[in-house]
Amino acid sequence: MPSLKAVLAEIVQEMAAQTDRGTVASYIPELARVPVQHFGIAVATADGQVVCAGDADTSFSIQSISKVFTLTVVLGQIGDALWQRVGREPSGNAFNSIVQLEHERGIPRNPFINAGAIAVTDALLGESLPREALGSILSFIRFVAGDERISIDKDVARSEQETGFLNAALANFMRAFGVLKHPVEHVLGVYFHHCAIAMTCRQLAMAGRYLAFSGRLPASDTSVVSTDRARRVNALMLTCGHYDQSGDFAFRVGLPGKSGVGGGILAVAPGTASIAVWSPGLNQQGNSLLGTLALERLAKAMQWSVFGA
Ligand code: GLN
Repeated sequence: MPSLKAVLAEIVQEMAAQTDRGTVASYIPELARVPVQHFGIAVATADGQVVCAGDADTSFSIQSISKVFTLTVVLGQIGDALWQRVGREPSGNAFNSIVQLEHERGIPRNPFINAGAIAVTDALLGESLPREALGSILSFIRFVAGDERISIDKDVARSEQETGFLNAALANFMRAFGVLKHPVEHVLGVYFHHCAIAMTCRQLAMAGRYLAFSGRLPASDTSVVSTDRARRVNALMLTCGHYDQSGDFAFRVGLPGKSGVGGGILAVAPGTASIAVWSPGLNQQGNSLLGTLALERLAKAMQWSVFGA
């Protein structure tokens, strides 16, 4: 097996040479002005190490990757009752699509499309105030990453709020069907803020360890969630984590992964590694173009796959 460090160095070199880097998200100025040239990657392994290359210590907007953490937090609070409000099937549609919602009576297909993540956020609000719900998400991420510096980019949150008409439509639709229980403004406020959390690849790779290592943080052997729960979140990442490109991602990379429009991807090689990659240019489906390619290269070089040794 080649050394991880050497493989990452090679990937950084190959990605630097790519001319087609995709298109940076342009719906808010904070994302539109991120230089497309950035590329970072970090891999947290079972022995407690994090091997990094490229811009692995530059913060970026995690956006929809936050949906993995909100799903974990809400399952911890209400368990399987969540599945009365959110499905577990790939949508085959864009992340912000509204088309299925009417047919399916306001029940979103899965927790990773926007509608599903908004329903998860509503469930997470429970009896608490928006600020408390947000606090529990942020505390969870800081805990699993082992880093108290992780915070919310307030400018991103404000811009999300100012431009989030489609998300407001999804939320109002679900509220009309009784799927959302809280005022739409409260739910969206929490949703926009958790999408606006900023992290580096190093922090994100650390935060994903509980998914890679059966619900535990390997170095300290702390239990975060049960083995079953970690497996199930991974299953959803594999089937739904890249929206209408989830099948293609599974085919090319072969690992559970969750993308965000900030250009980040969190991927999990169960029992072996938690991987974070960041390249801000997106493909047509809103997933990182070079992030996906880099993960494809890494998984092949290290022979990491959930589909066989
Ligand atoms: N904040 C973005 C939105 O709600 C997140 C989408 C994404 O990362 N795919 O539109």
